[in-house]
Amino acid sequence: MKTLFINPPNAPITSASIWIEPIDVLTIATYAQSLGHVVSVLDMDRDDGRMNELSIMLENEDYDAVVIVHDYHIPLFQDWSQKKLLELVSLCKKYKVKVVIGWKLSTYAPRKILMNDAYPDVIISKEMEMPIKELLATGVWTEAFLDSIPNIAYRSWDEVIETIKEASRFDIRELPIPDRKLLDVNDYIDVRTMLSSRWCSFRCSFCSVPDFWWKRRAREACEVVEEIAYLYKEFWAKKVLFLDDNATIENERMREISRMLINLKLDVKLGCLGNLRHFDEETMRLMYEAGFAWIHYWVESGSEKLLKSVGKFIPKEQVRSVIQQTKKIWFRVRTSWIMDLPGSTIETAEETAKFIMELEPHEIRLHYLSIRFGSRIFNESLEKTWELPKQYIHGKPVVTKGTSSEIIDASVQSLTEKLRETGYSVIYDNDENAEFENRDRNTKIASFCPLRYGIWWE
Ligand code: SF4
Repeated sequence: MKTLFINPPNAPITSASIWIEPIDVLTIATYAQSLGHVVSVLDMDRDDGRMNELSIMLENEDYDAVVIVHDYHIPLFQDWSQKKLLELVSLCKKYKVKVVIGWKLSTYAPRKILMNDAYPDVIISKEMEMPIKELLATGVWTEAFLDSIPNIAYRSWDEVIETIKEASRFDIRELPIPDRKLLDVNDYIDVRTMLSSRWCSFRCSFCSVPDFWWKRRAREACEVVEEIAYLYKEFWAKKVLFLDDNATIENERMREISRMLINLKLDVKLGCLGNLRHFDEETMRLMYEAGFAWIHYWVESGSEKLLKSVGKFIPKEQVRSVIQQTKKIWFRVRTSWIMDLPGSTIETAEETAKFIMELEPHEIRLHYLSIRFGSRIFNESLEKTWELPKQYIHGKPVVTKGTSSEIIDASVQSLTEKLRETGYSVIYDNDENAEFENRDRNTKIASFCPLRYGIWWE
């Protein structure tokens, strides 16, 4: 089938200063390509949302299907993007194409997509590869055919039909290297991205990753290294980021990847999203030797009580030690924090501010709680209301009125002042990222908005 894969527009459109290629869209498009389908990719999260460009493509290219991948592997889509998504479906349905939507919204809120005037032919729950393989195998999608495919939903008159839900048997080692030529990588910042594994072993109550991926699957170390070499040779990549939700769970695998990279002697710097609990000094030293220069640790809070309550307890002493050791090995360290975890008090707010100042990471990402689809907190909220909780990930505190909000505001305000006094640049707007393109190792940034990757990976 001739298929167009779309990264839909966020709302607001993501700032050019942090654009990275939509690696999850490239992954599924390349997989379809490997099955013999003719594929193209359109990234609509740019410029003005590119609706005109889409119309022209649909007018001229005679596509059989459009597959919309809504919500990056790293969830950055905002609530307002859902409205844009429906506009996009409405536009596609003016043409004779089948429309499929996959990922977070379609997994956790199928009715929100299907019970509209214009709606897609099929939505996919969780992992996309197996349903996509079956759907694209034929152009005739009868109800009997759709009923035979697990993990999808479709609308029949006024009813939403959800097919059987089953755990994925898909082996991600079958995935080809995502074809970056489906887009122009020069349109993005100078950091190429890759996905080498799925799932995370933690159970943070605000996160949907463990539920979404069922179980851990990882690509072979040699395949991972082959992809890095491909990015280096074909696209002159100097910086590559592992966007795996938790890249450092398996130390032995990371050591294997690092040893192979050391042998290859590629001039590439690497970064990854790691975790504090599985820190292993020997592995980190080897990773550094292999080119890893940056790591992101989610610390979330300076209060052990709050960390326990959200299922992410790591003793502060361990956090302190891991961050000190990581910096000593010479990694640039980003930490992230959620300023309004449920149960926050003046004491927990002060503990967190004090801990941030003490750790002095190079980059600090300050968040407010986002109630992500499929998380324990999300499910608890749904029990109280039929309304979907807000997903806005870069917004204001969840509690916006009353004493808690005042406590959080006051502590964030005082923390911000202290950070500025100790040499941090504090940024609030995506566009401010542009000024950090060429800074030195001592650059210290605290950010209330998405922070660009690749700052001083030397
Ligand atoms: S927040 Fe991070 S560590 Fe926690 S479950 Fe999600 S991916 Fe894992």
